[in-house]
Amino acid sequence: GLRELGELLYATHTGTPTDSELLLEKMREIDELKARLRELEGEPIIHLICPRCGHEVQPEDVYCRDCGEKL
Ligand SMILES: [Zn+2]
Repeated sequence: GLRELGELLYATHTGTPTDSELLLEKMREIDELKARLRELEGEPIIHLICPRCGHEVQPEDVYCRDCGEKL
């Protein structure tokens, strides 16, 4: 995790020999997590459904396109 990466970076800073391959792997891991976070923070897909028939309706719809129920 991030703590491990921090320790690795600290070890590099202090001159302690580190496995750079491991560091790169950790960097990739972080990038992956960041990408996943962006996905989660993305615009939520809102599915509105008609309360009467359950047909999917659009936010701008006033009436259900399927059964005509006023939304
Ligand atoms: Zn409907």
